[in-house]
Amino acid sequence: MLAAAPIDGLGLDFTGPAEANLEDLAAVGGLPGRRLVAGVVDGRNIWVNDLERSLSTLATLLGLAGRVDVAASCSLLHVPYDAELETDLDPGVRRWLAFARQKTAEIVTLTRGITRGPHLIADLVEDSKAALRARAESALTRAPAVRKRTAAITEADARRSRPYAERAAAQRARLKPPLLPTTTIGSFPQTADLRAARADLRAGRLDQAAYDERVAAEIRAVIAFQEEAGLDVLVHGEPERDDMVQYFAERLDGYLATRHGWVQSYGTRHVRPPILAGDVSRPEPMTLRWTTYAQSLTGRPVKGMLTGPVTMLAWSFVRDDQPLAETARQVALALRDEVADLEAAGIAVIQVDEPALRETLPLRAAARPAYLAWATEAFRLATSGVRDDTQIHTHMCYAEFGEILGAIEDLDADVISLEAARSHMQVAHELAGAGYPREVGPGVYDIHSPRVPDVDELTALLREGLAAIPIERLWANPDCGLKTRAWDEVRRSLTNLTIAARRVREEPSS
Ligand code: GLN
Ligand code: ZN
Repeated sequence: MLAAAPIDGLGLDFTGPAEANLEDLAAVGGLPGRRLVAGVVDGRNIWVNDLERSLSTLATLLGLAGRVDVAASCSLLHVPYDAELETDLDPGVRRWLAFARQKTAEIVTLTRGITRGPHLIADLVEDSKAALRARAESALTRAPAVRKRTAAITEADARRSRPYAERAAAQRARLKPPLLPTTTIGSFPQTADLRAARADLRAGRLDQAAYDERVAAEIRAVIAFQEEAGLDVLVHGEPERDDMVQYFAERLDGYLATRHGWVQSYGTRHVRPPILAGDVSRPEPMTLRWTTYAQSLTGRPVKGMLTGPVTMLAWSFVRDDQPLAETARQVALALRDEVADLEAAGIAVIQVDEPALRETLPLRAAARPAYLAWATEAFRLATSGVRDDTQIHTHMCYAEFGEILGAIEDLDADVISLEAARSHMQVAHELAGAGYPREVGPGVYDIHSPRVPDVDELTALLREGLAAIPIERLWANPDCGLKTRAWDEVRRSLTNLTIAARRVREEPSS
């Protein structure tokens, strides 16, 4: 249809799986006499271009169109500005990277190659080959111990040893939760003061010990407030994390951090995605210290808080030299070790967040089953090593859940909390309709708004949840983490939430 359309030119992506566009274009006889904008430089990733390979793609394309323009596969808005600024990185590793400036140079180089002759760019082609070879042979991308471990994964490693019903009984016996237990999704307000302390630490104005004491003080305040408000399953509040992916990326081998690699997230929000460059492993525990500290302050269970493998990939720049599924398995095993350490330290409830599970669902329906299979396997690999009486939670936000109900089931998490306040518990009804057998916490407090929900409103939403999920399997919690909210709103909202939960416990249907 496109080839037959009355257009002068067409821009297509020829990178990664979109390389299939080459065959499709040939199959319709190309675009004779017209202009092809050939996206051979990947606009979504940060790896140096294989110039030799792009030249050969371009040579084929030159036979299929009247004129070929070299281009990026999409706008450069997804990549940071300039890899040269990353002077903290090993210079050898920096050569593997191409941000917007480097990609623009690659486009110019390739254009020179196809218009004036490949010999003019021979040196640069050689450079790109050398960078790619160095990357392929580097100890960072080939860690034998990591590869041995992923190769040895068995089907049983990604399965809990008992079915949910038996686990639930063991967990109830250990945790002794009330009906309709109350909890939160993990973060408490990231105040200006906390952010200033982190900036001071980075700038050397605050030493590590003083910063750690600031974090400890915040945890004490968060625990004290939750006890006072009467929450049942507590959290430490994540004061030490600026970002739920960055925090773990900085602690895992195989990840690189950038200093200036900002990209737009949405509107005026920007993020600095880490780069998943090599084989992933965990040199030491990442969350144990603050989680066990929080647990030492209270008799109530404190929920450990980790970011799941799919989200760790989705919000990073990922490797293009191995299947995503393989990278996900490596991250999953590192998280599995963290889960084991938390469990051994007496943490009875562990949440592994997967807010990106739905977001990364491929657009093409044909690609979805394979994605969901590796994504859910990676989650189970991270979480299945625990005892029956350790309760695994997961959390997802802002999504059309309808399309992934099967995948939510396949995670086999004991408890899932989801965004639901704005859709009036729609997801609770969808899960119930699909026969979801486990515990659910459809969020009753919309944390995206500064509005403080009152007790009546929260009570009504909980009762709405009860219309879908029986009280033995329903949790009361906010929609998402509280890091963007102010303490005053959080205090009042969560206090109202615990009052509403108590009210519904006592009179579920009135
Ligand atoms: N545990 C995280 C938090 O509370 C989850 C955030 C998210 O879902 N994006 O902040
Ligand atoms: Zn969320």
